[in-house]
Amino acid sequence: MPIHMGVMCETCRKVHFIATSPTIRPSTANPGMYRLTCRVGCDETREFRKDTMCPYRVKDKVFQTGFAEQGEYEVIRQS
Ligand SMILES: [Zn+2]
Repeated sequence: MPIHMGVMCETCRKVHFIATSPTIRPSTANPGMYRLTCRVGCDETREFRKDTMCPYRVKDKVFQTGFAEQGEYEVIRQS
């Protein structure tokens, strides 16, 4: 499965992909930060730095939807 960069919503454990998810936008309040607005059955909003994103292994079909449910992605361990 391909690997894509994403950020996890810590509330619902869904992973949002920066390349395909409209829920990730550059922050207007903090330059250099990004804002995640989860909005898929969850109201979580949080800001994060781009370098806190992680690579996830995910099927292309799932990646194209913008987010992956828990169980649809695999965390790539970084050493
Ligand atoms: Zn969420």
